Amino acid sequence: MVEAVRRDVARNDDVLGRPRLSGPVDEALLAVPRHLFVPDELQLLAYENRALPIGLGQTISQPTIVALMTDLLELAPTDTVLEVGTGSGYQAAVLATVLPQGYVHTIEIVTDLALSARKRLVRLGYDNVKVHTGDGYRGRPEHAPFAGIMVTAAAERVPQALIDQLRPGGRLVMPLGPQGDTQWLTVLEKLPDGVLTRRVVLPVRFVPLTGEVEGR
Ligand code: SAM
Repeated sequence: MVEAVRRDVARNDDVLGRPRLSGPVDEALLAVPRHLFVPDELQLLAYENRALPIGLGQTISQPTIVALMTDLLELAPTDTVLEVGTGSGYQAAVLATVLPQGYVHTIEIVTDLALSARKRLVRLGYDNVKVHTGDGYRGRPEHAPFAGIMVTAAAERVPQALIDQLRPGGRLVMPLGPQGDTQWLTVLEKLPDGVLTRRVVLPVRFVPLTGEVEGR
């Protein structure tokens, strides 16, 4: 699986501006046991470089996308990050591995997924991750500011609360675009003076962000 991800990253070297993953992200992909984050009946496919269903209409993202989204945040080992869309907990585990002295807050709107991801991450010993149950649309102001924010479900626009909770110098990565169509993986950077820059990096397909965003 990691070899396939490395080939994808090399083919799309414009995404990161280099042909390979950073060392910590590459090591995290090797270290996190993806087969323990997919349903039992899909374990044989766990190390294919593809998205897989995790039940309740949701998916665990393709490893290439997990790797690129993690690397695009350009994190330091002590950073605190927010993920919206815990799903299986795999992406949170990859982030937690990249942040050995840092912390991951992750929010999942589907209660049953949040419960099982929380149990799984505790059982596997990821003690620098907290799984919150609820709508991530408003982020987690009580834990802000975040050095990085990752949204693993697609919406038309970046929720303002998430932009507000990004630290100056921090980055947010999220798929933007209409449902049922191609979306664009987009990186926002909040410069030290608070100005936002935006870079569109890759066409992707994600499940929709649900909850409050749908009424907006
Ligand atoms: N990161 C996940 C993983 O590693 O397995 C995959 C995420 S899956 C593509 C998207 C997830 O976002 C789903 O589990 C979905 O229930 C969740 N989601 C959708 N809208 C949400 C919201 N407003 N707040 C929190 N989670 C949300």
